Amino acid sequence: MGEALQKIRSGLLPAHVQLVAVSKTRPVEQILALYQQGQKVFGENKVQELVPKYEALPRDIEWHLIGHLQTNKVKYIASFVHMVHSVDSLKLLQEIERQAKKNNRVISCLLQIHIAKEETKFGMDDNEMTQLLEETVVHPDNYRHVQIAGLMGMATNTGNESQVRNEFHHLKQLYDTVRKKYFSFQPHFKELSMGMSADYKIALEEGSTMVRIGSLLFGAR
Ligand SMILES: *Cc1c(COP(=O)(O)O)cnc(C)c1O
Repeated sequence: MGEALQKIRSGLLPAHVQLVAVSKTRPVEQILALYQQGQKVFGENKVQELVPKYEALPRDIEWHLIGHLQTNKVKYIASFVHMVHSVDSLKLLQEIERQAKKNNRVISCLLQIHIAKEETKFGMDDNEMTQLLEETVVHPDNYRHVQIAGLMGMATNTGNESQVRNEFHHLKQLYDTVRKKYFSFQPHFKELSMGMSADYKIALEEGSTMVRIGSLLFGAR
């Protein structure tokens, strides 16, 4: 496990690229082992798995929620979650705002964009994303406890490398457009979360700033 970590780290040369170790389905002992080698950022995709892990593990771990989040579950993670990668509706953003405010916190959020050809993947299309952003521009006071820090996307699960590359490329272009139009003087908008075990190298070439890697670190699930 440590070897994989070092290998990925040394390949993630650009200093601005963050490694999110995806620890879903892994026991706390394995997470702790990686933590003891210096990995402090972990991603989980389910609230009911994240909460007990948060409670059992060291408090300086940065927890990222990377999977689909139901509005009625935001309250269980709002006191500690560092970043939500999977904001896919205005309703969800508003609930995160409500719960973050209750906890007197600001929660970093990424807007999840649907870039894959597959029907099953969550995420907004360009239109839904624009509507959400316009709403936050018109009513900024209603969104003081969420900070939109960038975009996230998952490519199609395929061996077709050029298709994966095209999907990441599209997301990077969208990211550049959004940053220019909505966040030009806001340096916190800087994250492009794309790339998993199978495709993170392509994602890095296409401009990813956060890779979410599970099986390469922990072994096959
Ligand atoms: C599981 C998961 C990952 C990591 O997948 P691996 O193939 O194990 O690297 C990344 N992102 C999301 C949203 C996931 O659910």
